[in-house]
Amino acid sequence: MTQSASLPTEIRHNALLQLLANSLVLTHTTPYLSSYDVLNLAATSRNFRYIVYSTPHLFSRLDLTTVRKAQYIKEKSGRGGEPDGDQTEDDVYSGHLRRIFTSLRCLDILRHVQVLCLDGLSLTSELVHEIITDPTYSVKILSIRHVVHMNEAKLRATLQYACRPSRPEGTPRLKGLYVFGPKDSARPALTSSGASTPISTCSSISWDASAVGADQESEAWYAKRGAQFPVLSGNTQQWAAWAPTLVACHGIIAFDAVLCTGPRHLNSRGWGTVGIEALNAAGNPASKDVPIHAVATHSLGGCAGCSSAPEGWTIWGEEPPTERDPSERRASEGGTMTTDIGRFPLLAPPPMHSVSLKSAMCPTGQSVYTRLSQFRSKGEQARFIPRCYDCIRDRYCNCCNKWWCETCYVGPWASVPNGEASRAKMADLARVHKSCWECGMNCCDCINDTQRMCNRCGGGYCLIHNEGSNHITCDWCSARGRAGVRHPELY
Ligand SMILES: [Zn+2]
Ligand SMILES: [Zn+2]
Ligand SMILES: [Zn+2]
Ligand SMILES: [Zn+2]
Ligand SMILES: [Zn+2]
Repeated sequence: MTQSASLPTEIRHNALLQLLANSLVLTHTTPYLSSYDVLNLAATSRNFRYIVYSTPHLFSRLDLTTVRKAQYIKEKSGRGGEPDGDQTEDDVYSGHLRRIFTSLRCLDILRHVQVLCLDGLSLTSELVHEIITDPTYSVKILSIRHVVHMNEAKLRATLQYACRPSRPEGTPRLKGLYVFGPKDSARPALTSSGASTPISTCSSISWDASAVGADQESEAWYAKRGAQFPVLSGNTQQWAAWAPTLVACHGIIAFDAVLCTGPRHLNSRGWGTVGIEALNAAGNPASKDVPIHAVATHSLGGCAGCSSAPEGWTIWGEEPPTERDPSERRASEGGTMTTDIGRFPLLAPPPMHSVSLKSAMCPTGQSVYTRLSQFRSKGEQARFIPRCYDCIRDRYCNCCNKWWCETCYVGPWASVPNGEASRAKMADLARVHKSCWECGMNCCDCINDTQRMCNRCGGGYCLIHNEGSNHITCDWCSARGRAGVRHPELY
């Protein structure tokens, strides 16, 4: 380290130049640098400028999330962020990004950008419309998770319009949209380990360990079971509004979510294989109003009874099934690829070293060539069962993600002859119950693990959510010690 630091600048400069002249090194390094850093590098000398600008695919992935000028600054408009005079909302909330895109267009960089990340920025649906339709953009994969000032209804209308059946041949260029998932906590960032360390050596640059750690959450859908989008899960209206858009874009634009494949929906492979009437009669009344199509919010493993589901698993690499197209039409493009769009979700983060949709969908450890994945054994397959909450609310344990499919468990009413159904009997027959408000619906095993009856006052409590409770007494009796007696009627 010290040895190389003492080398003349010119030699160090040349060593870096030689290293980056290797196109493999260059293309694998630049995705970790911000576009600002890449342009700064180009500005250092004629040679670096030549390397950067003669390798246009260096800009095929553009991440503006950390670029200072891409951040929306409220005061700019002079009226606290409100549109001013003849300014439109679009001018105010997307103006800063438009200015960046104009500069990139002048530098002849914009047309090379195929993966564009705008997560968390201020962005209007008008700008998304422009990115999708304006021929000066070539964006194939766009990430707009947790953006602000976005009119979601207009965004959905834009997407549906782009995928309308009468759209021109070869449009839209956009093939993947990240919109539902959480922002990537922090991409592996190159950090300098201190001002006193020479910046010329590799050892002074380290992976930000905390950022890498935060990123190592298990992979959405395939490895992470249960709710996939905790922030949005509760907002059922918002999910319902997105379903027609996913249907309209099926086979054309892939999202980081997929449609629920439960047998109550028209697009399900299990449609018609289970008696919906019997399910409605036997289940929780809330499960009756399941919409024709729904966005899946949960990833499940096999049912606790049959290890599968009426519709089967979604398996990476599996041949496209002869499933019902959600909009009752075939994608006009045909071919294997379009049948994968809509069937497999995009996985975070947006691809770093590729612009292909398959790499954006490919689960860790699996082959991008889906046909090869078919030769894996069952244990090595990447698979999941996507469901909306309406399809599982009375058959799924929120705690351990265990569930019972429609074939194995019709519902608590099924075993109760007409007229005899009492609440107590139903509760006995139900596979999941709500014993604690915060725990939600839980299976008997989880209830046995977490719910207790207090030895002193006889009241029920949850070991997780009644803080201060122990295996013998509830939080209230534990806090009062021997002196107090709990009066359940006061609760
Ligand atoms: Zn089952
Ligand atoms: Zn569903
Ligand atoms: Zn459970
Ligand atoms: Zn609880
Ligand atoms: Zn007690």
